Amino acid sequence: MTSHPEFRRYLADVDTTSTHQLFTDCLVIGAGIAGLRAAIEAAERCSVIIVCKDSLQNSNTYKAQGGIASVLERTDTFEAHIADTLGAGCGISDEAIVDLVVRQGPQLIEQLLEWGTEFDMVDNHIAATLEGGHTQARVAHAHGDETGRIITDSLIKKVRQNPNIKILENFYAIDLLTNDNKECIGVIGHDRLGMEIIWAANTILATGGAGRLYRETSNPDVATGDGLAMAYRAGAVLQDLEFMQFHPTTLYIAGASRLWLPRHCGEKVLFCWTAKGRRL
Ligand SMILES: Cc1cc2nc3c(=O)[nH]c(=O)nc-3n(C[C@H](O)[C@H](O)[C@H](O)COP(=O)(O)OP(=O)(O)OC[C@H]3O[C@@H](n4cnc5c(N)ncnc54)[C@H](O)[C@@H]3O)c2cc1C
Repeated sequence: MTSHPEFRRYLADVDTTSTHQLFTDCLVIGAGIAGLRAAIEAAERCSVIIVCKDSLQNSNTYKAQGGIASVLERTDTFEAHIADTLGAGCGISDEAIVDLVVRQGPQLIEQLLEWGTEFDMVDNHIAATLEGGHTQARVAHAHGDETGRIITDSLIKKVRQNPNIKILENFYAIDLLTNDNKECIGVIGHDRLGMEIIWAANTILATGGAGRLYRETSNPDVATGDGLAMAYRAGAVLQDLEFMQFHPTTLYIAGASRLWLPRHCGEKVLFCWTAKGRRL
């Protein structure tokens, strides 16, 4: 970690002697698919606290609709999936990471199935659909376009059943705490009781992206890049900030959220526009 002297190191002004404090082996900040999955893994070895700034259901993960790509059919291969991914990435993907993710995909999807994710099935195996950028049918969906909600629900159930995991919703993480050696030793945050400190031997930052910084966005309101900012103030080196995740189709109603949720809009759906401006 390096220091950035031009920035105020801590935003929170806290007196540690009078602030409520918690202690844990592993702190996970963020409860989307990354945070929930990391908490389940860490809880096999130690005590875990997982925090999120709103409810467990308010995340990009919960809103994701399309599905997950993986090699699911006998006619498909890891090599073909890797080639498609590198092609879609126009040569800037990290090949080692692509290789790792593609090869672990089938077993991780199988694990989600075992944990209760109700993927759409056909003839007793996961139904794979063909989508943009892929030369093979390899996208798994759950309840049609509710993939994110169904996966999140199964992960939340798994987390709630684990006695090693404590969940704190509505906990707004503000600053990562670091010691003199610049190691992260916990977080300062705010919840309904006021300021809180969580001291942690290990901290996993899984706070998602920053899509909500833009006025026009399909991201939910929690995606404001807090994790990136607090890591930067703590001295972390950030990378790949130019990559902003958003859903390419959205709904325009003046003054309303751009979150693409047709099933909740009913007759209020007016027009849907693709990324190229075509009306659907
Ligand atoms: C409409 C839509 C459709 C999508 N469709 C697809 C799809 O079909 N396929 C696909 O692969 N991806 C899709 N995505 C993208 C996908 O959802 C995300 O890439 C993924 O869910 C990110 O997961 P995450 O765990 O990193 O972050 P998130 O799911 O965003 O979770 C972030 C967590 O961090 C917490 N957090 C943030 N700041 C703080 C703070 N200061 N203090 C405490 N907690 C904090 C939040 O409360 C939340 O719990 C879609 C996204 C959207 C919005």
